[in-house]
Amino acid sequence: MRCPHDGREMDLRKVRRTATIRGRTVTYLPNRYVCPKCGIEAESPELAATNQKRLSEAYKKAEGLLTAVQIVEARRRRGWTQEDLARVARVGVASVKRWELGSIQSKANDEALRRALFDRPTDEHAWNGGRPLSLDRMRLILERFSQKLRRRLLTTRSKDKLLYAGKYLFYADMVAFRETGRGMTGASYAALPHGPQVNNYSELLPLIRSAKPNAAEPLTDEEERIIDRITKRFPSNSSIYEASHLEPVWREKPTGALIPYSDSVRLKAL
Ligand SMILES: [Zn+2]
Repeated sequence: MRCPHDGREMDLRKVRRTATIRGRTVTYLPNRYVCPKCGIEAESPELAATNQKRLSEAYKKAEGLLTAVQIVEARRRRGWTQEDLARVARVGVASVKRWELGSIQSKANDEALRRALFDRPTDEHAWNGGRPLSLDRMRLILERFSQKLRRRLLTTRSKDKLLYAGKYLFYADMVAFRETGRGMTGASYAALPHGPQVNNYSELLPLIRSAKPNAAEPLTDEEERIIDRITKRFPSNSSIYEASHLEPVWREKPTGALIPYSDSVRLKAL
């Protein structure tokens, strides 16, 4: 860019500026074209856009809000798309896009973003949903489903493959993890040919049958509500069977691969 007064080639320089934004004065470092001869400053439209973002980032930092860069980095660390983050934080995806471009989020939305991005277990809980395996709880939850569905999910048949029971447990654990930060049973799940299934179900089945639901940690109100929603969403075995086969988190896995709880944000049916 050339100086409009003397035609000299202008230098691109980082300058220190203060600006008042939403009643707060912040210092930031925009890039400006500066004429080495007369000192006049200018901005190109692209520069103006990045400088605007620097100003809002400085404001967010001063106000203790997550900056756009922090949001993008934390989201990528979790392997989430913008849609995933919107869903977990319960905000609009258009808002996530704007905040990542520098728009300033409200304090309430900032807290929702922080809860979604930081207040839930990460990798070490990927396979058990953040609690130790409880066979008593698996049995308790299957009985609760059976009561609400008015049919047996756990049979005494020697050939029972937990075909439907495994899917009710899968949704219960995954939805609970997504919404409360903790699964219900501590089970891990695998992508098997007939859908998502409790990992090692054939070895666990006799243990679940002899488990003691009364000895299990009682279900919380939130867990009861999740079980209720799953029951309403899948009143029949065929409905849960079909829905689970449409889940990308199952379809995309090779047979036998574990389905991490972090995939719960990408469930489609619930
Ligand atoms: Zn000049």
